[in-house]
Amino acid sequence: MPHYAVLGAGITGVTTAYSLLKRGHDVTIYDRQRYAGMETSFANGGQLSASNAEVWNRWATVLKGTKWLLKPDAPLSVNPKPSWHKLSWMAEFLGQIRNYEANTVATTKMAIAARAGLKEMAETAGIDFDFSPASIVHFYQTEKDFADGRRVNKLLAQGGLRRDEISPDEVRRLVPQLTGPLTGGFVTESDSTGDIHKFTYGMAEWLAEQGVRFRMGQEITDVAAKDGGVTVTTDEARRFDGVVVCAGVGSRDIAAKLGDRVNIYPVKGYSITVNLRDAQSRAAAPYVSLLDDKAKIVTSRLGEDRFRVAGTAEFNGFNRDIRADRVKPLVQWVERLFPGVSTEHCVPWAGLRPMMPNMMPKVGPGRAPGVFYNTGHGHLGWTLSAATAEALGEAVGEGPAPRSLSAAVPLAAA
Ligand SMILES: Cc1cc2nc3c(=O)[nH]c(=O)nc-3n(C[C@H](O)[C@H](O)[C@H](O)COP(=O)(O)OP(=O)(O)OC[C@H]3O[C@@H](n4cnc5c(N)ncnc54)[C@H](O)[C@@H]3O)c2cc1C
Repeated sequence: MPHYAVLGAGITGVTTAYSLLKRGHDVTIYDRQRYAGMETSFANGGQLSASNAEVWNRWATVLKGTKWLLKPDAPLSVNPKPSWHKLSWMAEFLGQIRNYEANTVATTKMAIAARAGLKEMAETAGIDFDFSPASIVHFYQTEKDFADGRRVNKLLAQGGLRRDEISPDEVRRLVPQLTGPLTGGFVTESDSTGDIHKFTYGMAEWLAEQGVRFRMGQEITDVAAKDGGVTVTTDEARRFDGVVVCAGVGSRDIAAKLGDRVNIYPVKGYSITVNLRDAQSRAAAPYVSLLDDKAKIVTSRLGEDRFRVAGTAEFNGFNRDIRADRVKPLVQWVERLFPGVSTEHCVPWAGLRPMMPNMMPKVGPGRAPGVFYNTGHGHLGWTLSAATAEALGEAVGEGPAPRSLSAAVPLAAA
């Protein structure tokens, strides 16, 4: 049976392993962390959001970003120290503005396709990940931003997504806890939420039960493709029939060793998990998932007693510091918009989004035989991973004995 190494045990790694297992391949997963889902797939915004499929490659976004650089609490921060990695990425990002519309439509299609795949995986593996078919509400405070939302809606519709315009009253009916001025919003009833870490960890546990091997706590120091096979080196070297690179922000270095250029930049984001310990906080936090278009903040209700709030983009290399000045705007946002929620018990986190300059994941073969990629999912890895894992599986092809994996638990009950 062909044996593939999957490099990385984040959301893209475990969904890739599922896709390969289903096709009848032998799989070994590597990760430098001791457990699955410990890097970017740990405490993200939780949104499974086709409605957030717009790529950022737009002159208007660049101009807005330039103004934000002067505001310390703005959603964007850039370390001014130049590096070839950052400059080359930014130059390519600008070069991709011409593909803004096509890439937004393509991402929307992928996000919609991913829904059935994620459901199949969760049901097959019987994973409880605080899934909620919550809907996502985008809301706006100015007519200008709302008009821009209408423009984006046309592209989302081209990709097949229904995102309905709603009045301020309808926003308040759906999110009665929300305070502050409103000009309107959009609701996407088909969007949902869930805990990426619970899913990733649960999928890894199930894969192990199915015979997938895990080599955790192993830093990959070298990868070499030769004579139709690939050797992966940690504290020892092992040879495989093929390899799939799913190493998030580590993928660029690994790709370079394999002769491929995958220009992923680590775009840092922050989240807070507000633990809703009292009844008043639980009632005052929304169940519907939100996207505040101006503040670029997303929220998810994870079960009864956790409210996840995420946002910000920081270009600061591989720096993983959780900076108090970047966390504070998230806490203040909760206090301003949801004053009944106690922020006494907030857990801050920062993760690095593995972002390609065109904001499209890299999925498919590399230059050398046996080398594949499923990486670079940027701000939407949770939303897209089930679709890209399926595409990757198709690119690799079927092994000699495809497996029929049957559902353990229906998702609604999970
Ligand atoms: C603040 C924030 C909010 C977000 N919100 C959302 C959201 O609401 N919805 C959404 O769809 N997406 C969201 N995202 C994006 C999403 O979380 C990511 O796209 C996704 O988690 C990336 O998964 P991954 O598997 O590519 O990377 P990771 O989860 O980082 O996995 C890569 C793995 O590779 C391992 N690795 C790397 N290099 C090596 C090496 N040399 N040796 C061994 N192991 C290695 C790492 O240890 C890691 O475990 C958000 C991201 C952030 C930061």
